[in-house]
Amino acid sequence: MAGIDTLKQALPPGSWTEDQDVIAPWLTEWRDKYFGQTPIMVMPKSAQETQKIVNICRESGLKIVPQGGNTGLVGGQTPQGEILLSTRRMNNVRSVNIVTNALIAEAGVTLANIQEAADNAGRKFPLSLASEGTCTIGGNLSTNAGGVHVVKYGTTKDLVFGVEAVLPNGEIYNGLTDLRKDNTGYDLSRLFLGAEGTLGIITAASLKLFSKPGHIQRAMCALASAEDAVRLLDHCRQSDRLAMFEVMPRVGLDLVLRHIPGQSDPFRKAYHWYALIDWETENEAQGNELAEQKLSGALEKELIADAVIAKSEAQASALLALREHMSAAQKHNGASVKQDITIPIDRIPEFLTRADQAVLKLEPNCRPVAFGHFGDGNIHYNVAQPEGADREVFLARWNDISKAVFDIVDDLDGSISAEHGIGIMKRSDLAERADPVKMTLLRAVKQAIDPDNMMNPRVML
Ligand SMILES: Cc1cc2nc3c(=O)[nH]c(=O)nc-3n(C[C@H](O)[C@H](O)[C@H](O)COP(=O)(O)OP(=O)(O)OC[C@H]3O[C@@H](n4cnc5c(N)ncnc54)[C@H](O)[C@@H]3O)c2cc1C
Repeated sequence: MAGIDTLKQALPPGSWTEDQDVIAPWLTEWRDKYFGQTPIMVMPKSAQETQKIVNICRESGLKIVPQGGNTGLVGGQTPQGEILLSTRRMNNVRSVNIVTNALIAEAGVTLANIQEAADNAGRKFPLSLASEGTCTIGGNLSTNAGGVHVVKYGTTKDLVFGVEAVLPNGEIYNGLTDLRKDNTGYDLSRLFLGAEGTLGIITAASLKLFSKPGHIQRAMCALASAEDAVRLLDHCRQSDRLAMFEVMPRVGLDLVLRHIPGQSDPFRKAYHWYALIDWETENEAQGNELAEQKLSGALEKELIADAVIAKSEAQASALLALREHMSAAQKHNGASVKQDITIPIDRIPEFLTRADQAVLKLEPNCRPVAFGHFGDGNIHYNVAQPEGADREVFLARWNDISKAVFDIVDDLDGSISAEHGIGIMKRSDLAERADPVKMTLLRAVKQAIDPDNMMNPRVML
């Protein structure tokens, strides 16, 4: 193909491959739901090389799918014949400024490496996801990732000064500022946050750093109901030190204990629900005192049935591992229809009751596993196939099950995508359910920046 030959001639060795064995791992996503194909994977080392690729693709009529760590959960990074542009070789932290509290990193730096660079400078970059060893900051920005610290620090959008991006017309937009105030027109960097690669390729970002807390106090509570989880959140929130509030059901914990080696139940008895809580404090003594005070108050009010306060880093890590392995453990539960929804926090219990009823009516004996970021009203509502059922037959019901869940989400004024994005998976749901004015504006922005639909053409819109 002419455009592909031009790409090969224009790029330095090591910046592209057509070897399908090398490309293969990047064509399957983590859940084995989407399988892609591409004639070539390009791997630019800089914004300028990315610009060269974009110009050749535009002149040759080729389309591009950007990809970072390939941990996205809505199929947005999987090409179907388009050029696969991997950002993983753009992997330098360009600068850290501890006066402005800004870190400039290239798009392919993994989230874990950004956290480490911040930590080495005596600062904290608070974004934290179970995929952080693999996902890239470019992917985090493009999906507006959430994770476990949103309750205190917000989503990725709240952690960014600005981005550098290569536009579909080949120009480089430079928004790498560290200004906290800049009211000079539309906030253009924001357009790229959550854009899922549909408006251009983010090549670098200027990120906000925060003070490092002296101590992170972790605790896990056993609860009788989802209602108690909501009440406990309110109780714990009375302190602005609350930095994580995750909730897991017993059925999910059982899967982790059964399938992930080295895990153990912190409680002697089984309970219906568990909350995993972090407080950020100045030191360990203060952390212990706060946790003791909050949790004894919660016991008195009968919000919790039992609690474990982590007394060491090892114990704190072991508690977090139970939550972090929850997605992986569900792979052993057969096929699942997975949704990442958000609703007003006070309506979570109602959502869970109604959603369970709806999916069980559609698919008797299916097994709902609802867990996640309760502190943000964000539930990963996963419905596992009935035991012994045929995987493909069950997965064929994906749309029916999703529709039943989304109808309830809409009814409760929620959103069908909390943090994973739209991708391919929810494109038609967005078109069907979003406010028509919103859809018109989204399409107008896309048309203005990418009139030839060159960037991630099958995603979102
Ligand atoms: C075990 C596990 C746990 C997870 N936990 C969470 C969680 O708690 N919270 C959460 O929000 N997500 C979570 N995710 C989802 C995923 O990790 C995030 O969506 C992450 O931000 C994706 O980053 P990535 O680099 O892997 O992006 P990719 O998967 O490579 O790409 C995701 C999307 O971004 C686009 N893209 C990637 N890089 C660029 C770029 N430089 N410029 C333009 N577009 C780009 C792609 O085209 C695609 O549409 C989890 C995933 C797994 C597997």
